[in-house]
Amino acid sequence: MPELPEVETIKEDLRGLVVGSRIERAEVTDSALVEQPPEGEFVRRLGGARMTGARRRAKHLIVELDTQDALVFQLKIGGQLLLVPPVEEPEDSVMLVLHLEGGRRLFLRDQTGFSRARLLREEELEERFADLGPEPFSAEFTVRYLRERLGSRRAQIKSLLLDQHLVSGIGNIYADEILYDARLHPRRRANTLSEGEWEALHGAIRSNLAAGIEHRGTTVRLYRDVLGRAGEHQNHLRVFERHGRPCPRCGAEVVREKIGGRPTHYCPRCQREDGSAEDGVQLELE
Ligand SMILES: [Zn+2]
Repeated sequence: MPELPEVETIKEDLRGLVVGSRIERAEVTDSALVEQPPEGEFVRRLGGARMTGARRRAKHLIVELDTQDALVFQLKIGGQLLLVPPVEEPEDSVMLVLHLEGGRRLFLRDQTGFSRARLLREEELEERFADLGPEPFSAEFTVRYLRERLGSRRAQIKSLLLDQHLVSGIGNIYADEILYDARLHPRRRANTLSEGEWEALHGAIRSNLAAGIEHRGTTVRLYRDVLGRAGEHQNHLRVFERHGRPCPRCGAEVVREKIGGRPTHYCPRCQREDGSAEDGVQLELE
């Protein structure tokens, strides 16, 4: 499931591999992909456009075109952008093919079928993203922002981390890893966090997302980069989908349960629901 580090990796790949190329023709092979404008217009406006840049906002991937349009992808659960060649042509689940000059093709493949695309005028972009929370690496995203924006909420901290209006780019995998690092139980009410815990949470958000980018994303199942390669960050996860295995910090068994409707993984000894630290476990706050 592409979150900030995976979309960031794909964006960097696009910059290195396809930005600068002209789209000779767009071919929509699954109409469910196109949200805006109507499919015929979507195809027509892409034909002949040159890709001039690639950006990321939250989990959205934005391809800038020389036509004042921006092609915005939401890769949702299983969306992959694959460059053929060198990647072999996908045999199934193709939603879009961009035929590029020079005979290359950029495929959007999604085995879950949930990926969506929009073609927006530059001026529509800002409006589209107006209600997204700050980027975790922006200057605006401070400990103070977190505490002031979330600190009076009674909601569970995990649900708030996933809320794209509050902070953008975090999904289920990184949320569990972030809370593990910050030693916060996913069900902790935000209004019970101490100043030190807000600092730990802020640090853990940045360090986990940075590590995910450094490792070119997390491949649990479907995520691939533009050259079809899996990420590496799955080899560095401590709790996500590691239930039944020992916590790398204390050895207690990692558990999995549904919290806020999402499968959630945590160490019941390091992340105590009442916020206390177990005897002998030192709370290390950065
Ligand atoms: Zn533990």
